[in-house]
Amino acid sequence: MNLYTLFEVRFPQDRTACSIETHDGLYYSWNDLDRATAKIANLLAGLDLPPGARIAAQVDKSPEALMLYLATIRAGFVYLPLNTAYRAAEMRYFIDDAKPSVVVCAPQNFGWVSQIAFAGGARHVFTLGDDRSGSLLVRATHQSNSFATVDKDPDDLAAILYTSGTTGRSKGAMLTHRNLASNAEVLHDAWRWQAGDVLLHALPLFHVHGLFVASHGALLNGSKMIFLPKFDSADVIRLLPRATVFMGVPTYYVRLLAEPQFGRDACAGMRLFVSGSAPLLTDTFSEFAQRTGHTILERYGMSETTMLTSNPYDGERIGGTVGLPLPGVSVRVVKSGGALCAPEEIGDIQVKGPNVFKGYWDMPEKTAEEFTQDGYFKTGDVGKFDVQGYLSIVGRSKDLIITGGYNVYPKEIEAVIDDIDSVVESAVVGVPHPDFGEAVTAVVVVQPDSTLSEADMLAYLKERIANFKVPKRVHFVPDLPRNAMGKVQKNVLREQFAGG
Ligand code: ATP
Ligand code: MG
Repeated sequence: MNLYTLFEVRFPQDRTACSIETHDGLYYSWNDLDRATAKIANLLAGLDLPPGARIAAQVDKSPEALMLYLATIRAGFVYLPLNTAYRAAEMRYFIDDAKPSVVVCAPQNFGWVSQIAFAGGARHVFTLGDDRSGSLLVRATHQSNSFATVDKDPDDLAAILYTSGTTGRSKGAMLTHRNLASNAEVLHDAWRWQAGDVLLHALPLFHVHGLFVASHGALLNGSKMIFLPKFDSADVIRLLPRATVFMGVPTYYVRLLAEPQFGRDACAGMRLFVSGSAPLLTDTFSEFAQRTGHTILERYGMSETTMLTSNPYDGERIGGTVGLPLPGVSVRVVKSGGALCAPEEIGDIQVKGPNVFKGYWDMPEKTAEEFTQDGYFKTGDVGKFDVQGYLSIVGRSKDLIITGGYNVYPKEIEAVIDDIDSVVESAVVGVPHPDFGEAVTAVVVVQPDSTLSEADMLAYLKERIANFKVPKRVHFVPDLPRNAMGKVQKNVLREQFAGG
């Protein structure tokens, strides 16, 4: 069973139909997709690589970048996508850790990436530009355009996805053909992919959302994708009328709503808007519904598990929740001793299912630690179910603050702070405190013209939340530290403000 076979059998009958269209007007048919992936697969297969070889790619988004991924799967190797924002020190870490046999990079980065790649034991370095330039396609051109997709065991690795590194060093999540295939099938049904669907693809191709959730959905449905090199509000508004499905991170929705011309007209032909990767604010959820008439469907997942829960396609989509467990995925919320939480009780989220990864690359002890005795994966997220079975994420267990014996969930306090007019955003963390164990500390970004002081803010909070939750200190900063995925790095804040 090879994941690619799953897609192959669903290609539309008319293989001259369009599979990918680029924002600047290039068309790729299903034949093109099949032949190009065959050529690249033949190239890889001819390199005499060991079984399970990793093919690492740090390349700009393009149809050929997606083809490189598909070719790697087809040829039975393991795809390792890397964020294009990573610089030398980060690339050295990933390459030394994953030891890829082949590294593909952007032509302009060949100098420094090839040095790191060869020093890390790679045998081949190819280049691929977003304009079809580079040695990968030059070498692939001479290959045959047919390739018999390699049969794989469902438990063989298909990809290693490094986590975003929000809570510490990124870890390589090993995902199998079964993991990816099962999730693709489940989402295909859950989100009612149908004839005539067109996906407007604006996400990057180096993490779960863009590479798997979005692309797999379209591939499994034999649907056309319109590829944007990156998210751009104007491009999205221009192209939405030609699409039916759009997927984004919450920031995309915020940015669309910031465009006065964005509204019902642009979304008239749309069937589905999906949000994930980070919490979607209920304000965004409500304003989007009001402006467009569409209810964003929020879902929850992670690199280690791909998708876990989703708001329903047909039933009620509840803002501020990540919906119901997907079919075949078991999701439970447990207390520290392991007992199940009742509805509305907050606890650790644990999951099990065919989508849950095989383990962290080269970290057997860490892998063992993160699974319970009965085989559930500890997500590291904290949440609660409501009485209807909808899950809400409250935060990450590493960010939970225990102050004077009380549990404080940062998200609750951040929501109150973010409600203040002149506040742009905030992050609440715990820092060591001699009396309380940890002290609640708020780090706040305010608008440039704001005159809000620490005392004002504390007075405001004292009126609205219990005393033990009120921050001991409020620090004003120009921006919050974020990783390459745009997620706030609370570990950096904890270090920075450790002195109180
Ligand atoms: P690391 O594991 O390296 O610290 P990370 O957890 O941010 O980084 P990812 O696997 O990219 O790396 O992100 C998964 C996490 O993103 C989830 O565990 C969860 O905390 C968060 N997340 C994903 N979707 C949602 C959502 N809809 N609402 C809230 N949080 C979400
Ligand atoms: Mg994580």
